This record gives sequence, C-alpha cells and structure tokens, in this order.
Amino acid sequence: MSQTVTLIPGDGIGPAITDATVRVLEAAGAPIEWDRQSAGSASMEKGGDPLPQATLDAIERDRVVLKGPLTTPIGAGFRSINVALRKHFDLYANIRPVQTMMPGGRYEDIDLVMVRENTEGLYIGIEHFIGMEDDPKAVAESVMLVTRYGAERIVRYAFDYALRHDREKVTLVHKANILKCTQGLFLEVGRQVAEDYEGRVEFEDKIIDNTAMQLVLNPHQFDVLVTENMFGDILSDEMAGLVGGLGLAPGANIGDDAAMFEPVHGSAPDIAGRGIANPCSCVLAACLLLDHLEERPTAERIRGALRATLEAGESLTPDLGGDGTTESFTDAIIKQLERDAASV
Ligand code: NAD
Repeated sequence: MSQTVTLIPGDGIGPAITDATVRVLEAAGAPIEWDRQSAGSASMEKGGDPLPQATLDAIERDRVVLKGPLTTPIGAGFRSINVALRKHFDLYANIRPVQTMMPGGRYEDIDLVMVRENTEGLYIGIEHFIGMEDDPKAVAESVMLVTRYGAERIVRYAFDYALRHDREKVTLVHKANILKCTQGLFLEVGRQVAEDYEGRVEFEDKIIDNTAMQLVLNPHQFDVLVTENMFGDILSDEMAGLVGGLGLAPGANIGDDAAMFEPVHGSAPDIAGRGIANPCSCVLAACLLLDHLEERPTAERIRGALRATLEAGESLTPDLGGDGTTESFTDAIIKQLERDAASV
C-alpha cells in the first residue's frame, strides 16, 4: 500500500534537492505517491498567493508533507510561509536531529536532538512600530508568548521522544535569569514535567548563552535539548555546524494531525540554478518522513547509502569539499543503494 505525501518543492535550490530526494526514494522502493503542490515565492509569482488554498487542502488530506525551503522576504513583504504552515496545522514540535555522517569533522560521533517549540515565543509575529514626533519607526516592539499549555506539551514531547529513542538526558535551555515571566514559566513548567519522568530520563536546565558555548566546547555532554522557538532555531543551526553544516541537517515539524519534513537550510539564493546544491539534508528529512510512516527499514537503507557515499567522498557537492553536482551526488547515492541491494 503506498501512502500519498504532499510535496512542496519550494524556492531557490528547493526544486533541485526535492527532485533528487524523489529519485533516491524511488530507487529505494519507498511506497510513496507524491501530491505536488506549490507555496512560497515561486507560487506568489505564478498565482499571486504564497500559500494557495489548494496546498492547504492537500495537506489536510494527505497529513504528511515533504517541503523544500521557502524564501521569506526580509523586513517587508509576505510573512514566513513556514511559520504560517506550522501555525495552521499546529505543528508544535520541531525536531532537529544532528548526527555525524562524515568522518574528519571537528568532532566524531555527534548524536544530538533539538526539540524546539514551534508555535509560540517571539516568532508568533505580534510586533509593531510606535511613532514619535516625525519618526514613524521610533520604537519597534515584539511580543514573546509562552503559554503553560505550549510549554508543557513541548517538554513532555521531548521526554517522550527520549524514552521512545532510548535517550538518557533532556536539557531544557532557557533565559529565565533575565526574562523572568516568559522564560521563567517555561522553566517552571519544564521542572514540573520532569518530575513525571524522574528515574527514567535525566533532567537538567541550562541558560541559553552558556549552552551555546558548551555546545562548541563539549557537545558530547548533551543528548536531547528542548527549548523555545527562537533559541531552538539558533541553537539547531549551531548544532548543524558541529556535523558539517546545514547541508546535512534535517528537520521534522510534528503536530497531532499532520507532520511536515524539511531540510533545515534555506533556499540558498546564492547557488540557486547552478546545479551544485547538496541534497543530503532533504534526503535525511525524507528519511525522518519514512520513520514517521513506519517505513524504518527503507529509511535505514537510505541513511546507510548516504553515509557510505559521504565516506567514499564520491561526487560530493562543493559545500562538502567536492567538485560534484546535485545530479552526480544523487547518482552516487543511488548506485550505492543498488550495490547494497545486490550484496544482500
Ligand atoms: P540558507 O540556508 O539558504 O543559506 C546559507 C548558506 O548555506 C548559503 O551560503 C547557501 O549557499 C548555503 N547552503 C544552504 N543550503 C545548502 C545546500 N543544500 N547545499 C549547499 N549549500 C547550501 O540561508 P539564507 O541565505 O539566510 O536564507 C535564504 C532564504 O531561505 C531566506 O529567504 C530565508 O528566509 C529562507 N529560509 C527558509 C527556510 C525554510 O524554508 N525552512 C529555512 C531557513 C531560511
């Protein structure tokens, strides 16, 4: 039985890396039918709507999405479609695992998971200017929203994730020393939730700035990290840097009724159209999607082939130090999958 999955190719390098990913999944025999839909700048240029109703209807129907990166205009223009999709489908848990895939990096054996709150914090976009005298932008103000409900469900998700994946420790990251209400509530709720898991999962809390430094100095002390929206966004990019950069980091946005999988990086306008985008992050996002669909053996075969291709150093894209292209790298992963299948 195949499963229908909404596919949003996205902007910039999105179409190239999602095409590559579809090829890899097809070669691995993943039982997926793609329901292609549009969103983002490309969709805006075509039909004047960055998030068409047809795309929302498709996600409502399929409930599982593979999404390429979407461009968000800076400082003006339409609001982030990524944020809109997360809000619309209440995809409250953003899961960003980072694992060493390529040998020879700054650290070996990195295996960390960021569980980021995805629907609250500063990213809810409640902000405005306050005019003074003849300056309409004399002051800019943003609201950071933390609810007891939102904090509890994300911390609980992190602990349940730790139990499901045989993880030992959850670190709650906060800034409760300065932001005593919003971050204070997040920490207070986190500590209460942690009591329910005592003896099963270890718990600690750490201030965000110290965490950022500790991640660079000694990342192996961490296991699962849980934090609010913006801190999670920033720290997860830092964590991706520990394993070779954004080109190797996948993300999952999970809600009770839908799940959306995507590469962590953006649309990379500086290399769009040049055929050199690294497809790994999108392929790894598709592996998380396969895990979610309980197609774990297929996901593991793809991860294995990807790891072997990275280790062999064949046809790697320039961001990984090679001189390959998106196409030659994808061909190498597919050849590895075929070799693995032949040797079983
Ligand atoms: P970016 O992640 O697009 O690019 C940062 C750097 O990493 C660039 O030098 C780029 O060339 C490189 N890079 C990223 N992905 C790569 C890949 N797969 N292969 C090789 N190199 C890669 O970040 P940015 O330039 O700050 O953002 C560009 C646009 O993407 C913005 O409009 C931003 O809002 C959007 N964005 C979208 C998402 C998303 O859709 N989830 C996430 C982040 C940024």
